[in-house]
Formats: sequence, C-alpha cells, structure tokens
Amino acid sequence: MLIKKLKGFRDILPEESALWRQIEGVAVEVFRRYGYRELRMPLLEETGLFRRSIGEQTDIVEKEMYTFLDGGGTSVTLRPEGTASAVRAFLENGLHRTDSKARLYYVGPMFRRERPQKGRLRQFHQLGAECFGWPEAGADADLLCLLWDLFDTLGLSTRVQLQINTLGCRGDRAAYVERLRAYLEPCRDELCENCRRRVDHNPLRVLDCKSTHCQEASAGAPTLLAGVCGDCGDHFVQVRSLLDRQQVPYQVNPRMVRGLDYYNRTTFELLSGDLGAQNAVAAGGRYDGLVETLGGPAVPALGFAAGLERMVLMLAEGNAATAATPLAFLVHRGEHALEAALLLRRQLIRAGVEADMDYGERSFKAQMRSANRAGARYALILGEEEVAQGNVAVKNLDAGTQETVAQDGVASILAATGSPASEEE
Ligand SMILES: [Zn+2]
Ligand SMILES: [Zn+2]
Repeated sequence: MLIKKLKGFRDILPEESALWRQIEGVAVEVFRRYGYRELRMPLLEETGLFRRSIGEQTDIVEKEMYTFLDGGGTSVTLRPEGTASAVRAFLENGLHRTDSKARLYYVGPMFRRERPQKGRLRQFHQLGAECFGWPEAGADADLLCLLWDLFDTLGLSTRVQLQINTLGCRGDRAAYVERLRAYLEPCRDELCENCRRRVDHNPLRVLDCKSTHCQEASAGAPTLLAGVCGDCGDHFVQVRSLLDRQQVPYQVNPRMVRGLDYYNRTTFELLSGDLGAQNAVAAGGRYDGLVETLGGPAVPALGFAAGLERMVLMLAEGNAATAATPLAFLVHRGEHALEAALLLRRQLIRAGVEADMDYGERSFKAQMRSANRAGARYALILGEEEVAQGNVAVKNLDAGTQETVAQDGVASILAATGSPASEEE
C-alpha cells in the first residue's frame, strides 16, 4: 500500500516552487534593503512560549496547536506563528543586551491543526519581519512601506488593500473591553456559540467573527478607535500622516482587532480578493508588551507575517509560471560522443548557459524530439565527425539553420549573445 501524505499537508512541485523562489527572492532583497537580517528559528518550541505570548483564549492556543509530549515528558509545540519564537530568540541570544534595536526577518513553515475540510492547510508558510526597539510612529510607517514595496515589487500592489487600525494601549483596551462587554451582554443570545463564550473571556474577538449573526449583533458596537487615550490617538494620527506622505494607500478599519492577544496600537491587514470575500494575505501590528511578557525588558516592537500560499496563488493568477527552459540541448551519437557531450554541457553550465541532454544511447531523431520538448533554442549536435574534429554542429531550432563551430568556442558564443555568430561559414 502506498503511504500518502497527511491531511492538510501538501507537496510543492517544481512548476509551483519556481513561484515560491521568485517571491522569496524578492522578499529577501526587499528585507535586506530595509535593513532586516535573517533569523532562522527552530520549528519546535516549548508549549509555554505560545500559551504565554499568543494568549490562552485564542483559537490558536485553544484548539489549533500541534502539541505533544516528547520522550522526556516536556510539552512541545510545532510553531503556529513566528513572532513568539522571534522574541524568544531575541531575548535568549541577548540581542537586546548589545543593542536593544534589531530588525529581523524569517521565512518558513508554520503548523496549525485546522480542519482540512475547509481547505485549510496544517502546514503553511509565512515570511515575516520583526522590528525591535523603536516606539515611534516612524517605525510603524516604515514597516508598512516595506510591506507595500514587497507587494509592489511582485506586481501585486494593485490587487491588495491595506487596512489599518489602532488597538490603543493596555489601559485603552481594558476600558474598551468593559464597554464592549456591556454592549454585547444584552444580545448574547443572538451570538454564535463561540462568541457567547467570548463575551466573558475575549469580547474583542466577537468583532471579527465570520458569523453573520455576530456581525449584525455587533454592527453598532462602540469602536476602540473612538476611545483611545491622547498618546495613542497622536501615535495613530502620525502613522497615518506618514503613510499619506509616502503615498501608501490605506483604509482605516475601526473593527479590525486581530486574533492574537499581544497586539497594541497600530494593527494592520493586507487584504486580497473581491469585496465581501476578502482574505488577509499579510497581517501584523505593534506588540510593545510582548518582550516583557516573555521575561525580557520593556522593548517596544512590531512586525508582520505574510502568507506565502496566498501570494503564490496571486502571482500564479497574474502571470503563467516561466519554467526554466534550457537554452541548449546536447545531441550525441557515436563513440566518445557521450563523454564530449557531458564535458560540453559542463562548460556551458559553468559559463552560465543553460544546457540539457539525454544520457542514453538514443537515436538522433529521439534526441532531437527531446530537444524540442525541452523548449531548447539550440540543438548542439555531437556526431562522430564533430567529436573527431573537436567541433559541434549548432542547429537553431527556431530558424532551422545549422553551422559548425569549435567546441571550445561555443560556450562563450552562447553566453555572450544567446545565439551563435551565424555569419561565419
Ligand atoms: Zn493609550
Ligand atoms: Zn461569533
């Protein structure tokens, strides 16, 4: 019996992985230019890290984590997101001691035990940035510029919408939770089963519940934005005006609360898709209290994570994947021809020319068919005569023309011009 992959997990095949490479390549370059350096974190962490940082009353911690006891009896969890691990790494490695400022990025898989029938993946991939040490609004605006430029560089900025909000400070939030709870209490019975519970534990989450009952019941609820303190209000005004000056388009969404406990002040989502069916392709915000929550000093911080699966989908819709096509295909026939072909292929590759070949003793015709199927522009033919004379016949498969050149020279000719000098006979 064939063993199949687990539910909610998938293979990324070569045709698609080219798109992943493209996105990761652009992201790494944008991160680098904005002064972010790569952090590679373990996939497995102590469960307590996520319980403490993400919050006990969140969907992630309540029912989506891959948690198990390892052989030593320690409760461990496959990371469901990157920020908690990034903060842990920042503290554990003493990055805050040498300089309390740090800009870090990561790319990699995350794990959540979601219901696969909804099309959700249990292993999904994110790239994220975390910026430590700056409480100022300039840091918020700069991070949003980075996020915008990342999508712009990929040609995706016309297909996303940036929504921002402020969650205020801890005090603002505590006062708001009371106001919101008082508002929701009388209509508790109209809410979905989860939200009835949330009114007690985490009423903010009722605001972003997908159930239409909950959306209707909370439609007239007071907003956090309307009740933040003066400092938080000023911070938000400044972030907005900086974004305006940078010409990063955004909308203020006062109902956006984000699912995780650790956010404060600026929060944001980058949405894609048609109105009504929008999904967040990236999301993040400020989390000034998290470093302290995880046992460190008070270091302000903010960050975002973007979903690679969704970005790949968006990119695939926009432009067909361009599979790497070999520029040249080596066709060999006769004694010592395989040897000459392998040597020439290697010379071409080392000169930066893509070249492919068959290894078997197949007919000339069969190899030419392979060359066409591979989408090669040139067939480089090595028959007994060519091999004996140190030459190679270069056939232009588009034009149908053919000429013979020295094997030694073909790499530099193809590398320099992408086509052989066709004049010399
Ligand atoms: Zn405040
Ligand atoms: Zn609900």
